[in-house]
Amino acid sequence: MNKWKYSPPFFMKYLFPEFKWSTSNSKILITFDDGPLPGNSEKILKYLSENKIKSIFFCVGNNLEENISLAKEILSEGHLIGNHMPLHQIITGMKTSEIIKNIKEVNETAREKLNYEIKYFRPPHGKFDLRTSKILKEFGMTNVMWSLITWDFRNDIKLVKNASGRFLKQDSIVVFHDSIKSSEIIIESLEFLLETAEKRNYGIGVPEECLK
Ligand SMILES: [Zn+2]
Repeated sequence: MNKWKYSPPFFMKYLFPEFKWSTSNSKILITFDDGPLPGNSEKILKYLSENKIKSIFFCVGNNLEENISLAKEILSEGHLIGNHMPLHQIITGMKTSEIIKNIKEVNETAREKLNYEIKYFRPPHGKFDLRTSKILKEFGMTNVMWSLITWDFRNDIKLVKNASGRFLKQDSIVVFHDSIKSSEIIIESLEFLLETAEKRNYGIGVPEECLK
């Protein structure tokens, strides 16, 4: 199978060095995209708390608005919230003014409803273009990409184990999903990742330190 389905090609990291493709402290950063959603985010929060792991949740603005109590729980548990666009729109086909408006909208929801300043962005489907850096710079935000896609959204633990087993490194930024798609296998997926990390003597990091 094509390795780029799990981990972005090397040249991307050279072309866009201002984006985060891996952690800067040789620790693993675990991230969740597409929530918060009842039915999955709570389970994940409980598991993270039991295992003393801090994470970033790249929230879809719409989900954030509809599930403010879950968002509050994310923050009160010491995790961070990132911006993943209001409706999970792919930004590459949008006008610059539209992208700005949409990023702002999610930031403002977090500010107004959670008294929280969002610092991190992740483009839906990982799709960005040459404008992305400049736009985010004006917001004072950082684009957080990844080095490992676990394929948890396919709801097949074998895929997650294969991806994590083959591509987990000590400085990986790992993507999971707290959407409904992954809810049946998410805890087993996290367990496997932690076991794999432990076997290889890799540590799990705290978001701000991983992204310095
Ligand atoms: Zn997404």
